Amino acid sequence: MRYVVAVRALCEFTAKQGDLDLRFTPSPSAQEGIAGHALVASRRGALYQAEVSLSGDYKELRVRGRADGYDAQNRQLEEVKTFRGDLADMPENHRQLHWAQVKVYGWLLCQKLELAEVRLALVYLDIGSQQETVLAECFTAEALKGYFEAQCEKFLDWARQELAHRAARDAALAALAFPHAAFRTGQRELAEAVYRSAASSRCLMAQAPTGIGKTIATVFPLLKAAPRQHIDKVFFLAAKTPGRRLALDALALINRSAPTLPLRIIELVARDKACEHLDKACHGESCPLARGFYDRLPAARSAALAEPGAGGLLDKEALRTVALAHGVCPYYLSQDLVRWSDVVVGDYNYYFDVSALLHGLTVANGWRVSVLVDEAHNLVDRARKMYSAELDQAELAGVRQSAGPALKKPLDRLHRAWRDLARGPQHPPEQAYQVCDSPPDKFLLALQQATAAITDDLEAHPTRVDAALQRFYFDALHFSRIAESFGAHSLFDITLDDARVRNGPFGSSRPAARFSRLCIRNVVPAPFLAPRFAAARSAALFSATLSPQKYHADTLGLPADTAWVDVPSPFLAEQLAVQVVSDISTRYQHREGSLAPIAHLMARQYDDKPGNYLVFLSSYDYLEKLAERFRQLHPQVPIWQQTRRMDEAARDEFLARFVPEGRGIGFAVLGGAFAEGIDLPGQRLIGAFIATLGLPQVNPVNEQIKLRMAENFGARQAYDYTYLYPGIQKVVQAAGRVIRTTRDQGVIFLMDDRFARPQVQRLLPSWWQVRQMRLRPASVTDADRRVWVSADGVQP
Ligand code: SF4
Repeated sequence: MRYVVAVRALCEFTAKQGDLDLRFTPSPSAQEGIAGHALVASRRGALYQAEVSLSGDYKELRVRGRADGYDAQNRQLEEVKTFRGDLADMPENHRQLHWAQVKVYGWLLCQKLELAEVRLALVYLDIGSQQETVLAECFTAEALKGYFEAQCEKFLDWARQELAHRAARDAALAALAFPHAAFRTGQRELAEAVYRSAASSRCLMAQAPTGIGKTIATVFPLLKAAPRQHIDKVFFLAAKTPGRRLALDALALINRSAPTLPLRIIELVARDKACEHLDKACHGESCPLARGFYDRLPAARSAALAEPGAGGLLDKEALRTVALAHGVCPYYLSQDLVRWSDVVVGDYNYYFDVSALLHGLTVANGWRVSVLVDEAHNLVDRARKMYSAELDQAELAGVRQSAGPALKKPLDRLHRAWRDLARGPQHPPEQAYQVCDSPPDKFLLALQQATAAITDDLEAHPTRVDAALQRFYFDALHFSRIAESFGAHSLFDITLDDARVRNGPFGSSRPAARFSRLCIRNVVPAPFLAPRFAAARSAALFSATLSPQKYHADTLGLPADTAWVDVPSPFLAEQLAVQVVSDISTRYQHREGSLAPIAHLMARQYDDKPGNYLVFLSSYDYLEKLAERFRQLHPQVPIWQQTRRMDEAARDEFLARFVPEGRGIGFAVLGGAFAEGIDLPGQRLIGAFIATLGLPQVNPVNEQIKLRMAENFGARQAYDYTYLYPGIQKVVQAAGRVIRTTRDQGVIFLMDDRFARPQVQRLLPSWWQVRQMRLRPASVTDADRRVWVSADGVQP
């Protein structure tokens, strides 16, 4: 069996030495990189071949890759690198790596074309000036062969142990048994669907109820499928930290159940969670863990793989221990270890974001990967954020004020372009919210010139710390990058920010400045996500709320042959009483009047069956009003409230009130921290009151999103895709907190007349038996009547 390795991966393993250094950045955007390569190719003669596929074998190794270009006329093989800034600042170990790559390609080319010698060239293209710096040298085939074989020899021991690991892993996975005594109801059906999707190389959408053990039911079948389907890696992608933890626990359970299974499992966490020196920069002159990073990496890598942490996991803690023992950065060690892992557990952004690590490595190395997307109903919103960008004029103003002379001109030019943009003929300056066709070229050019100037400035002053300038710089780079792929999937809008209208300087009589924010707002992430799904051998997206199937498939860009499974709930309708209260309206204009009836219903239910309840409202404002009214009317009932910007400790405190024998009502916001992803089984939660349909607010932005939805999917879908489906999904998620096991009993009150509409009821889980009730006048008592009259001043 051969071990296949990409040229770049081979050279990174064998030829990278010295410090980790992120200061010398290549071209800021992938598109600029592609355009730079195309520019170099266009300057060459007719016989120039771009993207030359090459491969060659050495003992158990197969080395393959694509050289950037070959000029047959001059017998010159080129490796093209785009960059910004001063080439002299490029660290020496970067240049060494580039030479290593082009030399390996050189031998593969000589072998393929039977050349006795070849000229190798590193072509550095300055993205700003479009000037090329060419470093070229002639090599004999013999010398290149020697170099190639030396690199292969350096890698061979590692490759042999990787082959042995793979064989042992696959043998153990083939014999792997389900780690529990039996499947729970629905678990087998989900596991089989995931296995089939991997076997047929398709995507799968799986709607499966909470409580059946979805994590193990998705991870286990993929691991079983891995040997036959030659799956190199499984990526488990979660929206939130608890999802990652559940996955790691499930994988540790699998590891424990099969002691001979040599599965390598790694957790990826965000840089700010893994960094040991948050006050430092990622280069050897600043951070001790970056200094000599590549010299100490091999020992750290071997130690991590040989001795993972508890449960056989390389989770955050285990990685930190190994990294610090070897004096390397834990964050960048984890990025290296991805290459040698079988299962990677991380956030969505590691695969779906603009320049996501896992996706980039998958494409570069030709890995066969299977992707699991946990709680996939979150992916639409998360992906929208990844492909949106915002710029704040107030930040530009601040940066202009403190900028040095080198930045004055480009920032002034950007300021003028911005001002013209907001005052364009079609956009009167006083319009608070405007949507434009696309970001204008003139503005984008000014933005690019400004970022190029800041790049140079930052490189010229590496020790200067200017947090505002850096923040603006990264926002501007992201904005430029997102603007490159602007299309019908996004909006470009300008918002005048009333709250930040500025007075003239020092109380002068100069007119106040009104700042604006520019936003490229992704509405439909499908065009960005579709290539990500295509790059995976299979992908399974699972959640308790993936209905309607078409809405998710359309917005996420899933392929037409995506399979669908709706796993029946293991819960019985008798476990859950679902009541639609059809004579309460929670519409904005009726909220004040709804407070007393809602409070009354909650108190009555609490009196009938004391225990722990949650009530969900559409906003903090509504929550605070209801809590206040409830406290006035029913002071004997203990209540506790979710508040804005709760930290982790405060969230834990809120949840700690839900003890098995406890009593009281927690007030929470729909769509917030307590509306999904929390587990309160048994008596810890016996009911929920949901006083909202969860519909996004009708405002100018959402109305524009609706128009975009109409353009993409037709006018008939526009309202549902913008308002109804996202809203009801949140309701079902929140309601899903009540029944967590087959022994739970509970009650849900859906408090709004619109829950009685057939188009809404169709979106509720099929196992629910929904009943309608009217709170008044039939059920009203004299005591109730007195409460409402005194609270609202009106008769019910
Ligand atoms: S420890 Fe922090 S500053 Fe140092 S290299 Fe790692 S991420 Fe960068």
